[in-house]
Amino acid sequence: FKNAPATLRDLIDAGRQHGDQEFLVYQGERLTFTQFFKRVDALSYHLIHSLGINNGDRVAIAMRNCPEWMVSYAAIVSVGAVVVPLNSWGSADELHYGLKDSAAKLVFCDQQRSELIQSFLSKLNCQAIVARIAQGDIIGDSDFDEIIANNWNKPLPAVSCNTDDIAQIMYTSGTTGRPKGAVSSHKNICQAIYSFEFHAMCSAMANPQAIEKMFAGGFPPCTLLSVPLFHVSGCYAAFLLNLRGGRKTVVMYKWSPEQALKLISTEKVTIFSAAPSMVLELLRHPDFHSSDTSSLFSLGGGGAACPPSFKTVINNTLANAYIGTGYGMTESNAICANCSGEAFTYKPTSAGTLSPLVEWQTRDKDNNILSKGERGEIWLKSVCNVSHYWNKLDANSKQFDDGWMATGDIGYLDEENFVFVVDRAKDLIIRGGENIYPAEIEAILTSHPAVSEAAIIAEPDEQFGEIPAAVIRLRASAELNHNELGEYLLGKLAVFKHPKHIWFCHDELPRNAAGKVLKSELVQKYIA
Ligand code: ATP
Ligand code: MG
Repeated sequence: FKNAPATLRDLIDAGRQHGDQEFLVYQGERLTFTQFFKRVDALSYHLIHSLGINNGDRVAIAMRNCPEWMVSYAAIVSVGAVVVPLNSWGSADELHYGLKDSAAKLVFCDQQRSELIQSFLSKLNCQAIVARIAQGDIIGDSDFDEIIANNWNKPLPAVSCNTDDIAQIMYTSGTTGRPKGAVSSHKNICQAIYSFEFHAMCSAMANPQAIEKMFAGGFPPCTLLSVPLFHVSGCYAAFLLNLRGGRKTVVMYKWSPEQALKLISTEKVTIFSAAPSMVLELLRHPDFHSSDTSSLFSLGGGGAACPPSFKTVINNTLANAYIGTGYGMTESNAICANCSGEAFTYKPTSAGTLSPLVEWQTRDKDNNILSKGERGEIWLKSVCNVSHYWNKLDANSKQFDDGWMATGDIGYLDEENFVFVVDRAKDLIIRGGENIYPAEIEAILTSHPAVSEAAIIAEPDEQFGEIPAAVIRLRASAELNHNELGEYLLGKLAVFKHPKHIWFCHDELPRNAAGKVLKSELVQKYIA
Protein backbone atom coordinates (compact mmCIF):
# COMPACT_ATOMS: atom_id res chain seq x y z
CA PHE A 1 0.00 0.00 0.00
CA LYS A 2 1.70 3.17 -1.22
CA ASN A 3 -0.34 5.41 1.09
CA ALA A 4 0.61 3.54 4.26
CA PRO A 5 2.88 5.46 6.63
CA ALA A 6 6.54 4.52 6.41
CA THR A 7 7.06 4.12 10.14
CA LEU A 8 5.07 3.00 13.12
CA ARG A 9 5.87 6.36 14.70
CA ASP A 10 3.98 8.11 11.86
CA LEU A 11 1.18 5.56 12.02
CA ILE A 12 0.66 6.18 15.73
CA ASP A 13 0.98 9.95 15.29
CA ALA A 14 -2.13 9.94 13.10
CA GLY A 15 -4.19 9.28 16.24
CA ARG A 16 -3.54 12.85 17.42
CA GLN A 17 -6.20 14.15 15.04
CA HIS A 18 -8.92 12.65 17.29
CA GLY A 19 -8.15 15.24 19.99
CA ASP A 20 -10.64 15.38 22.82
CA GLN A 21 -12.63 12.32 21.79
CA GLU A 22 -12.67 9.56 24.37
CA PHE A 23 -10.07 6.85 23.66
CA LEU A 24 -9.50 4.56 26.64
CA VAL A 25 -11.85 3.41 29.38
CA TYR A 26 -10.28 1.28 32.09
CA GLN A 27 -11.66 0.42 35.52
CA GLY A 28 -13.33 3.79 35.98
CA GLU A 29 -10.44 5.77 34.42
CA ARG A 30 -10.99 7.61 31.14
CA LEU A 31 -8.45 9.10 28.72
CA THR A 32 -9.05 11.19 25.61
CA PHE A 33 -6.74 10.92 22.62
CA THR A 34 -5.10 14.22 23.64
CA GLN A 35 -4.52 12.98 27.17
CA PHE A 36 -3.08 9.74 25.79
CA PHE A 37 -0.59 11.61 23.59
CA LYS A 38 0.39 13.98 26.41
CA ARG A 39 1.59 10.89 28.26
CA VAL A 40 3.31 9.45 25.19
CA ASP A 41 5.24 12.70 24.62
CA ALA A 42 6.29 13.01 28.27
CA LEU A 43 7.50 9.41 28.39
CA SER A 44 9.29 9.68 25.03
CA TYR A 45 11.13 12.75 26.28
CA HIS A 46 12.25 10.89 29.39
CA LEU A 47 13.38 7.83 27.38
CA ILE A 48 15.65 9.98 25.21
CA HIS A 49 16.80 12.74 27.52
CA SER A 50 17.04 10.99 30.89
CA LEU A 51 17.64 7.35 30.02
CA GLY A 52 19.58 7.77 26.78
CA ILE A 53 17.54 5.17 24.92
CA ASN A 54 18.85 4.99 21.36
CA ASN A 55 17.60 3.70 18.03
CA GLY A 56 17.61 -0.08 18.08
CA ASP A 57 17.73 -0.48 21.89
CA ARG A 58 15.27 -3.13 23.02
CA VAL A 59 12.66 -1.95 25.53
CA ALA A 60 10.27 -4.56 26.92
CA ILE A 61 6.73 -4.31 28.31
CA ALA A 62 5.59 -6.81 30.94
CA MET A 63 2.16 -5.66 32.08
CA ARG A 64 -1.38 -6.92 32.01
CA ASN A 65 -3.77 -4.88 29.86
CA CYS A 66 -3.89 -1.27 31.10
CA PRO A 67 -3.51 2.22 29.57
CA GLU A 68 0.16 2.39 30.62
CA TRP A 69 0.85 -0.61 28.35
CA MET A 70 -0.34 1.37 25.35
CA VAL A 71 1.37 4.61 26.38
CA SER A 72 4.66 2.69 26.81
CA TYR A 73 4.28 0.98 23.43
CA ALA A 74 3.64 4.27 21.63
CA ALA A 75 6.56 6.00 23.40
CA ILE A 76 9.08 3.18 22.77
CA VAL A 77 8.21 3.08 19.08
CA SER A 78 8.20 6.88 18.79
CA VAL A 79 11.81 7.18 20.00
CA GLY A 80 13.02 4.62 17.45
CA ALA A 81 13.66 1.86 20.00
CA VAL A 82 12.55 -1.74 19.47
CA VAL A 83 9.42 -2.62 21.45
CA VAL A 84 9.37 -6.10 23.01
CA PRO A 85 5.91 -7.01 24.33
CA LEU A 86 6.30 -9.91 26.79
CA ASN A 87 3.65 -12.41 27.81
CA SER A 88 2.45 -11.05 31.14
CA TRP A 89 0.89 -14.40 31.99
CA GLY A 90 4.41 -15.75 32.15
CA SER A 91 6.19 -17.13 35.19
CA ALA A 92 9.41 -15.56 36.48
CA ASP A 93 11.33 -18.08 34.33
CA GLU A 94 9.43 -17.14 31.20
CA LEU A 95 9.90 -13.41 31.81
CA HIS A 96 13.59 -14.07 32.41
CA TYR A 97 13.75 -15.87 29.07
CA GLY A 98 12.08 -12.96 27.22
CA LEU A 99 14.24 -10.27 28.82
CA LYS A 100 17.44 -12.23 28.34
CA ASP A 101 16.64 -13.38 24.80
CA SER A 102 15.86 -9.84 23.65
CA ALA A 103 18.68 -8.29 25.77
CA ALA A 104 16.25 -5.56 26.80
CA LYS A 105 17.86 -2.47 28.38
CA LEU A 106 14.65 -1.39 30.04
CA VAL A 107 11.33 -2.95 30.95
CA PHE A 108 7.99 -1.31 31.74
CA CYS A 109 6.14 -3.50 34.21
CA ASP A 110 3.23 -3.49 36.59
CA GLN A 111 3.64 -4.25 40.25
CA GLN A 112 3.08 -8.01 40.00
CA ARG A 113 5.56 -8.44 37.15
CA SER A 114 8.09 -6.20 38.92
CA GLU A 115 7.99 -8.56 41.91
CA LEU A 116 8.57 -11.55 39.63
CA ILE A 117 11.60 -10.09 37.87
CA GLN A 118 13.26 -8.20 40.74
CA SER A 119 15.72 -10.94 41.67
CA PHE A 120 17.40 -11.23 38.26
CA LEU A 121 16.95 -7.80 36.68
CA SER A 122 20.33 -6.36 37.64
CA LYS A 123 22.12 -9.51 36.42
CA LEU A 124 20.55 -8.90 33.04
CA ASN A 125 21.69 -5.27 32.99
CA CYS A 126 18.10 -4.23 32.64
CA GLN A 127 16.31 -1.39 34.40
CA ALA A 128 12.60 -1.37 35.34
CA ILE A 129 9.98 1.37 35.31
CA VAL A 130 7.05 0.29 37.42
CA ALA A 131 3.48 1.39 36.74
CA ARG A 132 0.26 0.64 38.60
CA ILE A 133 1.45 0.22 42.17
CA ALA A 134 -1.59 -1.09 43.99
CA GLN A 135 -2.29 -0.35 47.64
CA GLY A 136 -5.30 -2.51 48.22
CA ASP A 137 -7.79 -1.40 45.60
CA ILE A 138 -6.22 2.03 45.21
CA ILE A 139 -3.60 2.61 42.55
CA GLY A 140 -0.77 4.57 44.16
CA ASP A 141 1.95 6.81 42.76
CA SER A 142 4.47 4.91 40.69
CA ASP A 143 7.75 5.65 38.90
CA PHE A 144 5.68 5.77 35.75
CA ASP A 145 3.32 8.50 37.04
CA GLU A 146 6.24 10.48 38.39
CA ILE A 147 8.01 10.40 35.02
CA ILE A 148 4.85 11.60 33.28
CA ALA A 149 4.36 14.40 35.82
CA ASN A 150 8.01 15.54 35.63
CA ASN A 151 7.99 15.66 31.84
CA TRP A 152 4.46 17.02 31.32
CA ASN A 153 4.16 19.33 28.29
CA LYS A 154 7.52 18.23 26.88
CA PRO A 155 7.42 17.81 23.07
CA LEU A 156 7.81 14.49 21.29
CA PRO A 157 11.56 14.35 20.54
CA ALA A 158 12.64 14.30 16.90
CA VAL A 159 14.43 11.06 16.03
CA SER A 160 15.40 9.51 12.76
CA CYS A 161 13.54 6.33 12.11
CA ASN A 162 13.47 4.38 8.84
CA THR A 163 10.90 2.12 7.31
CA ASP A 164 13.27 -0.89 7.27
CA ASP A 165 14.52 -0.45 10.85
CA ILE A 166 13.47 -3.09 13.37
CA ALA A 167 10.38 -1.83 15.22
CA GLN A 168 9.29 -4.82 17.27
CA ILE A 169 10.12 -8.27 18.57
CA MET A 170 6.82 -9.94 19.41
CA TYR A 171 6.78 -13.41 20.92
CA THR A 172 4.52 -16.11 19.47
CA SER A 173 1.84 -17.60 21.71
CA GLY A 174 3.93 -20.62 22.75
CA THR A 175 1.24 -23.15 21.81
CA THR A 176 3.76 -25.65 20.45
CA GLY A 177 6.84 -24.82 22.54
CA ARG A 178 8.94 -21.90 23.79
CA PRO A 179 7.62 -18.64 22.30
CA LYS A 180 9.77 -17.37 19.42
CA GLY A 181 10.62 -13.68 18.98
CA ALA A 182 9.24 -12.57 15.60
CA VAL A 183 11.20 -9.56 14.29
CA SER A 184 9.20 -6.90 12.40
CA SER A 185 10.34 -3.76 10.63
CA HIS A 186 8.25 -0.60 10.68
CA LYS A 187 7.22 -1.40 7.12
CA ASN A 188 6.01 -4.93 8.01
CA ILE A 189 3.65 -3.59 10.69
CA CYS A 190 2.45 -0.49 8.82
CA GLN A 191 1.54 -2.62 5.80
CA ALA A 192 -0.26 -5.09 8.09
CA ILE A 193 -2.33 -2.37 9.74
CA TYR A 194 -3.20 -0.97 6.31
CA SER A 195 -4.25 -4.47 5.21
CA PHE A 196 -6.71 -4.60 8.11
CA GLU A 197 -8.09 -1.19 7.16
CA PHE A 198 -8.31 -2.20 3.51
CA HIS A 199 -10.29 -5.31 4.45
CA ALA A 200 -12.63 -3.28 6.66
CA MET A 201 -13.20 -0.79 3.85
CA CYS A 202 -13.89 -3.51 1.27
CA SER A 203 -16.30 -5.30 3.61
CA ALA A 204 -18.14 -2.05 4.24
CA MET A 205 -18.49 -1.43 0.50
CA ALA A 206 -19.56 -5.02 -0.15
CA ASN A 207 -22.07 -5.07 2.72
CA PRO A 208 -23.90 -1.73 2.71
CA GLN A 209 -26.80 -3.30 4.66
CA ALA A 210 -24.43 -4.06 7.54
CA ILE A 211 -23.28 -0.45 7.67
CA GLU A 212 -26.88 0.77 7.61
CA LYS A 213 -27.67 -1.54 10.50
CA MET A 214 -24.73 -0.18 12.42
CA PHE A 215 -25.90 3.41 11.99
CA ALA A 216 -29.49 2.48 12.68
CA GLY A 217 -28.39 1.41 16.17
CA GLY A 218 -27.14 4.94 16.74
CA PHE A 219 -24.21 3.81 18.89
CA PRO A 220 -20.77 5.26 18.08
CA PRO A 221 -18.11 2.61 17.39
CA CYS A 222 -16.69 1.17 20.58
CA THR A 223 -14.45 -1.90 20.99
CA LEU A 224 -14.12 -4.20 23.97
CA LEU A 225 -10.47 -5.18 24.32
CA SER A 226 -10.54 -8.54 26.07
CA VAL A 227 -7.50 -10.29 24.58
CA PRO A 228 -3.91 -9.64 25.68
CA LEU A 229 -2.16 -6.59 24.26
CA PHE A 230 1.08 -8.56 23.96
CA HIS A 231 -0.23 -10.59 20.98
CA VAL A 232 -1.05 -9.29 17.51
CA SER A 233 -4.80 -9.63 18.06
CA GLY A 234 -4.92 -7.17 20.98
CA CYS A 235 -2.08 -4.93 19.88
CA TYR A 236 -3.14 -4.41 16.26
CA ALA A 237 -6.82 -5.28 15.91
CA ALA A 238 -7.78 -3.33 19.02
CA PHE A 239 -5.08 -0.88 20.08
CA LEU A 240 -3.39 0.40 16.89
CA LEU A 241 -6.48 0.27 14.68
CA ASN A 242 -8.60 2.07 17.27
CA LEU A 243 -5.90 4.65 17.88
CA ARG A 244 -5.80 5.50 14.18
CA GLY A 245 -9.52 5.15 13.62
CA GLY A 246 -10.61 7.23 16.65
CA ARG A 247 -12.61 4.44 18.29
CA LYS A 248 -13.35 4.26 21.98
CA THR A 249 -11.64 1.21 23.50
CA VAL A 250 -12.87 -0.39 26.69
CA VAL A 251 -9.92 -2.23 28.20
CA MET A 252 -10.31 -5.37 30.31
CA TYR A 253 -7.54 -6.30 32.73
CA LYS A 254 -8.35 -9.95 32.11
CA TRP A 255 -11.09 -11.95 30.48
CA SER A 256 -14.29 -12.52 32.39
CA PRO A 257 -17.60 -13.09 30.56
CA GLU A 258 -19.64 -11.58 33.44
CA GLN A 259 -17.50 -8.44 33.42
CA ALA A 260 -17.63 -8.29 29.61
CA LEU A 261 -21.45 -8.35 29.66
CA LYS A 262 -21.52 -5.50 32.18
CA LEU A 263 -19.12 -3.40 30.12
CA ILE A 264 -21.02 -4.07 26.88
CA SER A 265 -24.14 -2.76 28.54
CA THR A 266 -22.72 0.28 30.39
CA GLU A 267 -20.21 1.45 27.76
CA LYS A 268 -22.41 0.52 24.77
CA VAL A 269 -19.81 -1.69 23.14
CA THR A 270 -20.42 -2.27 19.44
CA ILE A 271 -17.44 -4.49 18.49
CA PHE A 272 -16.29 -7.63 20.26
CA SER A 273 -13.48 -9.65 18.76
CA ALA A 274 -11.63 -12.42 20.61
CA ALA A 275 -10.63 -16.08 20.44
CA PRO A 276 -13.61 -18.15 19.16
CA SER A 277 -13.81 -19.96 22.53
CA MET A 278 -14.28 -16.58 24.29
CA VAL A 279 -17.00 -15.43 21.89
CA LEU A 280 -18.89 -18.67 22.55
CA GLU A 281 -18.41 -18.33 26.31
CA LEU A 282 -19.93 -14.86 26.18
CA LEU A 283 -22.91 -15.84 24.05
CA ARG A 284 -23.63 -18.98 26.08
CA HIS A 285 -23.33 -17.24 29.43
CA PRO A 286 -26.46 -17.58 31.61
CA ASP A 287 -26.55 -13.76 32.05
CA PHE A 288 -26.42 -13.08 28.32
CA HIS A 289 -30.17 -12.84 27.73
CA SER A 290 -30.81 -10.65 30.75
CA SER A 291 -27.98 -8.24 29.78
CA ASP A 292 -28.40 -5.21 27.55
CA THR A 293 -26.40 -6.14 24.46
CA SER A 294 -28.43 -3.97 22.08
CA SER A 295 -25.34 -1.99 21.03
CA LEU A 296 -23.35 -5.10 20.05
CA PHE A 297 -23.17 -5.20 16.30
CA SER A 298 -19.95 -6.92 15.23
CA LEU A 299 -18.49 -10.21 16.49
CA GLY A 300 -15.14 -11.64 15.51
CA GLY A 301 -13.32 -14.87 16.32
CA GLY A 302 -9.71 -15.31 15.26
CA GLY A 303 -6.39 -16.92 16.13
CA ALA A 304 -7.82 -20.44 16.12
CA ALA A 305 -10.33 -22.39 14.07
CA CYS A 306 -13.96 -21.44 14.66
CA PRO A 307 -15.92 -24.55 15.67
CA PRO A 308 -18.89 -25.43 13.43
CA SER A 309 -21.24 -24.34 16.23
CA PHE A 310 -19.86 -20.76 16.02
CA LYS A 311 -22.26 -19.58 13.33
CA THR A 312 -25.30 -21.35 14.79
CA VAL A 313 -24.71 -20.00 18.29
CA ILE A 314 -24.34 -16.44 16.98
CA ASN A 315 -27.42 -16.77 14.77
CA ASN A 316 -29.42 -18.03 17.73
CA THR A 317 -28.31 -15.28 20.10
CA LEU A 318 -27.43 -12.19 18.07
CA ALA A 319 -29.12 -12.90 14.77
CA ASN A 320 -28.22 -9.56 13.18
CA ALA A 321 -24.57 -9.50 14.15
CA TYR A 322 -21.92 -8.91 11.54
CA ILE A 323 -19.54 -11.87 11.87
CA GLY A 324 -15.87 -12.07 10.97
CA THR A 325 -13.05 -14.57 11.33
CA GLY A 326 -9.58 -14.76 9.93
CA TYR A 327 -6.34 -16.64 9.72
CA GLY A 328 -2.95 -15.24 10.51
CA MET A 329 -0.09 -15.56 12.94
CA THR A 330 2.44 -13.49 14.84
CA GLU A 331 4.98 -14.09 12.06
CA SER A 332 2.66 -12.67 9.36
CA ASN A 333 1.72 -9.75 11.63
CA ALA A 334 -1.76 -11.30 11.73
CA ILE A 335 -2.25 -10.95 7.98
CA CYS A 336 -3.24 -13.77 5.65
CA ALA A 337 -6.97 -14.34 5.14
CA ASN A 338 -10.26 -12.82 6.32
CA CYS A 339 -13.82 -14.02 6.17
CA SER A 340 -16.62 -11.69 7.12
CA GLY A 341 -20.15 -10.64 6.26
CA GLU A 342 -21.44 -12.35 3.11
CA ALA A 343 -18.29 -14.46 2.75
CA PHE A 344 -18.77 -15.85 6.26
CA THR A 345 -22.39 -16.75 5.55
CA TYR A 346 -21.31 -18.39 2.30
CA LYS A 347 -18.38 -20.44 3.70
CA PRO A 348 -18.43 -20.35 7.50
CA THR A 349 -15.79 -23.06 7.91
CA SER A 350 -13.29 -21.26 5.70
CA ALA A 351 -10.79 -18.66 6.91
CA GLY A 352 -11.83 -16.48 3.95
CA THR A 353 -9.95 -14.97 1.07
CA LEU A 354 -6.35 -13.84 0.90
CA SER A 355 -5.32 -10.32 1.75
CA PRO A 356 -4.16 -8.54 -1.44
CA LEU A 357 -0.55 -8.37 -0.22
CA VAL A 358 -0.27 -12.10 0.41
CA GLU A 359 1.04 -14.78 -1.96
CA TRP A 360 0.17 -18.38 -1.06
CA GLN A 361 1.71 -21.81 -1.62
CA THR A 362 1.12 -25.26 -0.18
CA ARG A 363 4.13 -27.57 -0.17
CA ASP A 364 4.70 -31.24 0.58
CA LYS A 365 7.34 -32.55 2.99
CA ASP A 366 10.03 -32.37 0.31
CA ASN A 367 9.21 -28.73 -0.43
CA ASN A 368 7.45 -29.48 -3.73
CA ILE A 369 4.70 -26.99 -4.53
CA LEU A 370 1.27 -28.63 -4.58
CA SER A 371 -1.66 -27.79 -6.84
CA LYS A 372 -4.79 -25.94 -5.82
CA GLY A 373 -7.03 -28.07 -3.60
CA GLU A 374 -4.18 -30.27 -2.35
CA ARG A 375 -3.43 -30.22 1.37
CA GLY A 376 0.06 -29.30 2.40
CA GLU A 377 2.06 -26.97 4.58
CA ILE A 378 1.05 -23.35 4.06
CA TRP A 379 3.87 -21.02 2.96
CA LEU A 380 3.27 -17.28 2.69
CA LYS A 381 5.07 -14.41 0.98
CA SER A 382 4.11 -10.88 1.93
CA VAL A 383 5.50 -7.50 2.88
CA CYS A 384 3.74 -7.98 6.24
CA ASN A 385 5.75 -11.09 7.15
CA VAL A 386 8.52 -10.76 9.72
CA SER A 387 11.98 -11.23 8.28
CA HIS A 388 13.24 -13.71 10.87
CA TYR A 389 13.13 -14.93 14.46
CA TRP A 390 15.37 -13.25 16.99
CA ASN A 391 18.32 -15.48 17.97
CA LYS A 392 16.99 -18.58 16.20
CA LEU A 393 19.44 -19.49 13.45
CA ASP A 394 18.14 -23.00 13.03
CA ALA A 395 14.45 -22.07 12.73
CA ASN A 396 15.39 -19.15 10.48
CA SER A 397 17.10 -21.38 7.94
CA LYS A 398 14.21 -23.89 7.93
CA GLN A 399 11.26 -21.50 7.94
CA PHE A 400 12.40 -18.59 5.79
CA ASP A 401 13.25 -19.30 2.17
CA ASP A 402 13.77 -16.69 -0.53
CA GLY A 403 11.00 -14.36 0.69
CA TRP A 404 8.68 -17.25 1.60
CA MET A 405 7.83 -18.24 5.16
CA ALA A 406 6.68 -21.64 6.43
CA THR A 407 3.67 -21.35 8.74
CA GLY A 408 3.72 -24.81 10.35
CA ASP A 409 0.03 -25.11 9.40
CA ILE A 410 -1.60 -27.52 6.97
CA GLY A 411 -4.23 -26.14 4.65
CA TYR A 412 -5.46 -25.66 1.10
CA LEU A 413 -7.17 -23.19 -1.24
CA ASP A 414 -10.48 -24.35 -2.69
CA GLU A 415 -11.56 -23.83 -6.29
CA GLU A 416 -12.90 -20.36 -5.43
CA ASN A 417 -9.65 -19.37 -3.70
CA PHE A 418 -11.06 -19.62 -0.17
CA VAL A 419 -8.50 -20.57 2.46
CA PHE A 420 -9.04 -23.68 4.58
CA VAL A 421 -6.77 -24.32 7.54
CA VAL A 422 -6.79 -28.01 8.42
CA ASP A 423 -4.52 -28.17 11.47
CA ARG A 424 -1.03 -27.56 12.76
CA ALA A 425 1.58 -29.85 11.17
CA LYS A 426 2.95 -30.58 14.66
CA ASP A 427 -0.44 -31.87 15.85
CA LEU A 428 -0.89 -34.30 12.95
CA ILE A 429 -1.33 -37.89 14.15
CA ILE A 430 -0.04 -40.60 11.82
CA ARG A 431 -1.85 -43.88 12.59
CA GLY A 432 -0.14 -46.66 10.74
CA GLY A 433 0.54 -44.38 7.77
CA GLU A 434 -2.91 -42.73 7.78
CA ASN A 435 -2.99 -38.99 8.48
CA ILE A 436 -5.44 -37.95 11.19
CA TYR A 437 -6.05 -34.25 11.84
CA PRO A 438 -7.11 -33.62 15.46
CA ALA A 439 -9.03 -30.47 14.49
CA GLU A 440 -11.47 -32.57 12.41
CA ILE A 441 -12.27 -34.86 15.35
CA GLU A 442 -12.46 -31.94 17.81
CA ALA A 443 -15.00 -30.15 15.60
CA ILE A 444 -17.28 -33.22 15.60
CA LEU A 445 -16.87 -33.84 19.33
CA THR A 446 -17.78 -30.25 20.22
CA SER A 447 -20.92 -30.49 18.10
CA HIS A 448 -22.30 -32.95 20.72
CA PRO A 449 -24.67 -31.03 23.03
CA ALA A 450 -23.08 -32.46 26.20
CA VAL A 451 -19.55 -31.45 25.19
CA SER A 452 -18.15 -28.08 26.15
CA GLU A 453 -14.52 -28.45 25.03
CA ALA A 454 -12.51 -31.24 23.40
CA ALA A 455 -8.86 -31.82 22.59
CA ILE A 456 -7.32 -34.70 20.66
CA ILE A 457 -3.80 -35.76 21.52
CA ALA A 458 -1.55 -38.52 20.18
CA GLU A 459 -1.21 -41.67 22.27
CA PRO A 460 1.68 -44.04 21.53
CA ASP A 461 0.48 -47.41 20.22
CA GLU A 462 2.44 -50.60 19.59
CA GLN A 463 0.49 -51.62 16.53
CA PHE A 464 -0.09 -48.28 14.78
CA GLY A 465 2.70 -46.05 16.13
CA GLU A 466 0.24 -43.47 17.41
CA ILE A 467 -3.51 -43.20 17.76
CA PRO A 468 -5.88 -40.38 18.74
CA ALA A 469 -7.01 -40.00 22.36
CA ALA A 470 -9.53 -37.43 23.62
CA VAL A 471 -9.84 -35.17 26.63
CA ILE A 472 -13.40 -33.92 26.90
CA ARG A 473 -14.86 -31.31 29.20
CA LEU A 474 -18.56 -31.89 29.67
CA ARG A 475 -21.05 -29.10 30.14
CA ALA A 476 -22.13 -28.48 33.73
CA SER A 477 -24.47 -31.28 34.87
CA ALA A 478 -24.23 -33.09 31.49
CA GLU A 479 -23.46 -36.81 31.43
CA LEU A 480 -21.96 -38.82 28.63
CA ASN A 481 -20.04 -42.10 28.47
CA HIS A 482 -17.58 -43.60 26.04
CA ASN A 483 -20.17 -45.85 24.33
CA GLU A 484 -22.70 -43.07 23.84
CA LEU A 485 -20.02 -40.88 22.33
CA GLY A 486 -18.82 -43.76 20.10
CA GLU A 487 -22.35 -44.12 18.73
CA TYR A 488 -22.56 -40.38 18.10
CA LEU A 489 -19.33 -40.51 16.08
CA LEU A 490 -20.49 -43.42 13.90
CA GLY A 491 -21.47 -42.12 10.49
CA LYS A 492 -19.83 -38.76 11.22
CA LEU A 493 -16.20 -39.87 11.43
CA ALA A 494 -14.28 -42.80 9.91
CA VAL A 495 -13.87 -45.49 12.56
CA PHE A 496 -10.04 -45.47 12.42
CA LYS A 497 -10.19 -41.85 13.63
CA HIS A 498 -12.32 -42.62 16.70
CA PRO A 499 -10.36 -41.91 19.89
CA LYS A 500 -9.57 -45.14 21.76
CA HIS A 501 -9.15 -43.55 25.16
CA ILE A 502 -11.42 -40.75 26.28
CA TRP A 503 -10.91 -38.83 29.51
CA PHE A 504 -13.97 -36.88 30.69
CA CYS A 505 -13.53 -33.91 33.00
CA HIS A 506 -15.44 -30.90 34.28
CA ASP A 507 -12.44 -28.58 34.52
CA GLU A 508 -11.54 -26.04 31.86
CA LEU A 509 -8.88 -27.32 29.48
CA PRO A 510 -5.52 -25.58 29.97
CA ARG A 511 -5.24 -22.66 27.56
CA ASN A 512 -2.56 -20.04 26.96
CA ALA A 513 -3.10 -16.29 26.93
CA ALA A 514 -4.25 -16.46 23.31
CA GLY A 515 -7.02 -18.88 24.34
CA LYS A 516 -5.42 -21.93 22.67
CA VAL A 517 -5.43 -25.36 24.30
CA LEU A 518 -2.00 -26.37 25.58
CA LYS A 519 -1.90 -29.96 24.35
CA SER A 520 1.55 -30.58 25.82
CA GLU A 521 0.03 -30.15 29.30
CA LEU A 522 -2.70 -32.67 28.48
CA VAL A 523 -0.12 -35.16 27.20
CA GLN A 524 1.83 -34.70 30.46
CA LYS A 525 -1.29 -35.23 32.55
CA TYR A 526 -2.95 -38.12 30.72
CA ILE A 527 -0.32 -39.91 28.67
CA ALA A 528 3.28 -39.33 29.75
P1 ATP B 1 3.69 -20.99 18.74
O1 ATP B 1 4.06 -20.61 17.35
O2 ATP B 1 4.57 -20.33 19.76
O3 ATP B 1 3.54 -22.44 18.97
P2 ATP B 1 1.04 -20.01 18.05
O4 ATP B 1 1.33 -20.58 16.69
O5 ATP B 1 -0.25 -20.40 18.68
O6 ATP B 1 2.23 -20.37 19.06
P3 ATP B 1 0.31 -17.38 17.16
O7 ATP B 1 1.23 -16.77 16.18
O8 ATP B 1 -0.36 -16.51 18.14
O9 ATP B 1 1.14 -18.45 18.00
O10 ATP B 1 -0.84 -18.18 16.45
C1 ATP B 1 -0.89 -18.43 15.07
C2 ATP B 1 -1.43 -19.82 14.82
O11 ATP B 1 -2.80 -19.94 15.27
C3 ATP B 1 -1.48 -20.19 13.37
O12 ATP B 1 -0.22 -20.58 12.87
C4 ATP B 1 -2.51 -21.32 13.37
O13 ATP B 1 -1.93 -22.54 13.80
C5 ATP B 1 -3.51 -20.85 14.44
N1 ATP B 1 -4.63 -20.15 13.78
C6 ATP B 1 -4.81 -18.84 13.61
N2 ATP B 1 -5.96 -18.56 12.96
C7 ATP B 1 -6.52 -19.75 12.68
C8 ATP B 1 -7.72 -20.17 11.99
N3 ATP B 1 -8.59 -19.31 11.48
N4 ATP B 1 -7.95 -21.50 11.87
C9 ATP B 1 -7.10 -22.41 12.39
N5 ATP B 1 -5.96 -22.08 13.04
C10 ATP B 1 -5.68 -20.78 13.18
MG1 MG C 1 3.08 -20.58 15.59
